[in-house]
Amino acid sequence: MDDSRLTELVGLSRSLGLPERDLAVLGEGNTSARLDDRTFLVKASGTSLADADEASFVKMDLGQTLAILDLEDPTDEDLGAALLAARSGDAGDLRPSIEAVMHALCLTEGEATFVGHTHPTSVNSVLCSDRALTLSRGAIFPDQIVVLGRFPLHMPYADVGLPLAHALRTGLREHKRRVGAAPKTVYLQNHGLVALGVSAGGVDQVTTMAAKHARIMAGVLAAGEPVYLTEEQADRLDTRSDEEYRRRVLQGRTPATGGR
Ligand SMILES: [Zn+2]
Repeated sequence: MDDSRLTELVGLSRSLGLPERDLAVLGEGNTSARLDDRTFLVKASGTSLADADEASFVKMDLGQTLAILDLEDPTDEDLGAALLAARSGDAGDLRPSIEAVMHALCLTEGEATFVGHTHPTSVNSVLCSDRALTLSRGAIFPDQIVVLGRFPLHMPYADVGLPLAHALRTGLREHKRRVGAAPKTVYLQNHGLVALGVSAGGVDQVTTMAAKHARIMAGVLAAGEPVYLTEEQADRLDTRSDEEYRRRVLQGRTPATGGR
């Protein structure tokens, strides 16, 4: 197993699970990291982000996990068995999270190396309202574009597990066709946030900024209507060389390891 990637994944998970960040409580949320062309690590079901350690992750076969999408009308038992069978190597008693297929999609179609899925109170305050689309309709401040990118992906509500995974596969493919790149954020209506990144630090930063963006949006909606930056303003921010430099510096950072 790639120990450095596992260590980074533990650090990211603990950071996302810090109680003061209010991103996930109890067993909420899950994280993953791609190891190579064939395998990835995903949080085991029944573990918490805050208490994550090296034993909290299951090594999965990428191809077998994605093949679960081809099962026709599986029962919950079929799905559980298929997830167990998609483990790679000696996983002991660990069961992968039910959201493992969603992670496998983010690590392939979504072009991510690390993924952090959380249920932030701030983001869900907007995502559980009839103004959920305000989060993905445009940019309201410059650093939103620098860290979160121009084009988030909004997914309508779908049952956790295979229905959500099927919808996400279609959503990611359409998104890439439409804007030419994978999203850094996926907003799951009435559910939560998925942050995609090429590094653990990148995922942590995207989650931090998405939570702040949602807090600002909640304030904006209390004060009035959002005023989005124009296409020209957003384009300019997206392509400025000094912003590109800041983005590269931010991507290189690793998250602080949780204080446990
Ligand atoms: Zn979730």
